[in-house]
Amino acid sequence: MQNFDLVILGGGPGGYPLAARMARKGWLVAIVDYTQEFGGTCLNWGCIPTKALLASSRSYHLLKNAADFGLSCSETSFDWQKIQERKNKITVQLRQGIVKMLEKSGVKIFNGYGQLCKDRVIKITGPEDNSVTEIQAKKVCLAVGSIPAAPTVFPADRSIFWTSNEALNTDKVPESLLVVGGGVIGIELGQVFAEFGCKVCVVEMMPQILPGLDNATAKRLLPVFKKAGLEILVGKKVEALAEKDGRAKASIDGVEREFDKVLIAVGRRVNYRFMENSDVQIVTEKGLISINERFMTSEPEVYAIGDAVKGPMLAHKASYDAMILASQWLGENVAADYSLVPSCVYTHPEIAWVGLNEEQLKEQQIEYKTGRSMFSANGKALTAGEGDGQIKTLLTPDGKLLGAIIWGPEASNIINEATMMSQFGINSHDFSRMIHPHPTLSEAFMESVENASGEGVHG
Ligand SMILES: Cc1cc2nc3c(=O)[nH]c(=O)nc-3n(C[C@H](O)[C@H](O)[C@H](O)COP(=O)(O)OP(=O)(O)OC[C@H]3O[C@@H](n4cnc5c(N)ncnc54)[C@H](O)[C@@H]3O)c2cc1C
Repeated sequence: MQNFDLVILGGGPGGYPLAARMARKGWLVAIVDYTQEFGGTCLNWGCIPTKALLASSRSYHLLKNAADFGLSCSETSFDWQKIQERKNKITVQLRQGIVKMLEKSGVKIFNGYGQLCKDRVIKITGPEDNSVTEIQAKKVCLAVGSIPAAPTVFPADRSIFWTSNEALNTDKVPESLLVVGGGVIGIELGQVFAEFGCKVCVVEMMPQILPGLDNATAKRLLPVFKKAGLEILVGKKVEALAEKDGRAKASIDGVEREFDKVLIAVGRRVNYRFMENSDVQIVTEKGLISINERFMTSEPEVYAIGDAVKGPMLAHKASYDAMILASQWLGENVAADYSLVPSCVYTHPEIAWVGLNEEQLKEQQIEYKTGRSMFSANGKALTAGEGDGQIKTLLTPDGKLLGAIIWGPEASNIINEATMMSQFGINSHDFSRMIHPHPTLSEAFMESVENASGEGVHG
């Protein structure tokens, strides 16, 4: 049996950076994934494919609205097969890069199902021939990620009742689509299909879309998404779904409607396949693998990171876990802190937030002042035809950033200014000395901070 210092189960954004980091530090490392598609959910069925489709839909939108830029384009159309090919090409390119990087770092790659057994033995079942290889490690890290959670009361025919996996790989844009769940995945994919002419209805049970986003912004965005072609129903429930003549019949708050397809986007659950028929049963809590502050599970020298454990189910959080765990193993006295994990929605317009929002500040009785700046007053945004949106910053009375909420162009990039300002405790006075190039979208962030501190010249 081959022995390793570390075996990682799962080659997603949690598993692969940890493998590379520890191998480069001289550890003998193996990584196991049952797909040859290294990069995990993020690269193959998540972040990257959705962003590739969103980029095509955004370009199509610009093409349809070319006249806004003084351009003419007599005929606009799209080829869904080519859009899919483009998306797949991007994922293949990135995947190959990860495999090369792992090989270069000296990581041993195993392809197959990993089953965790006693004494950190991993049984790997080959995906094609069912051959079994056993390896053992001093340490094991479970970076097994998550899979779509579809309520069992809903039909399981995935040709009509999609999860995000089927939605991303469909060979045709449906004529109508019901999206169950107004979270990030539902809204992003809903916008993709709406832009390509599909009638999309998003139903969210909670009183607002995008949980975690501050209430006022979530409300403000409803007409914005309506203009983008999305029908959004909040505070309504999809009570039942059934198949009828190859289509979907839905009961939404007592109203019967029919759709070509349904996207069930109500959340994700941990992939526990590593424990199936195993002599090891890891302790779990509320569906997640229980860990302590050193990522240690109930099993000796077995660790867990990423979507499988507490904290937001996001790729950058999974990679952050990996880096904190690696630092702990290398002797640094650090612990994970999820108070500044940025959340981003890559729709058009983009939405991003970090830190605390106004509801949370009020609830925690934290004193704050609010700053605002509008993209309609930002030169770069207007030249790009992106004048919709605003930046809201929330500061302590002495100018420390508590939170920021952005909707508008490049929100997912601008949010880094907020995270940096908060993480490194820069106060608003010092921040306003940082020279922002002109014209840029990030100037709007500086102006929002200055607006809160009363030091701004623009309002
Ligand atoms: C549609 C969609 C869009 C998303 N968009 C974003 C986004 O824009 N930004 C963002 O930050 N996050 C996004 N996410 C979330 C992000 O993909 C996850 O948070 C991230 O991939 C979690 O990383 P991970 O390493 O914990 O797990 P995963 O990426 O899920 O990787 C786990 C890997 O483990 C493998 N595996 C599991 N069990 C075993 C086993 N027993 N044996 C062998 N291999 C195993 C799986 O094959 C998989 O490759 C999105 C998710 C979805 C579904």
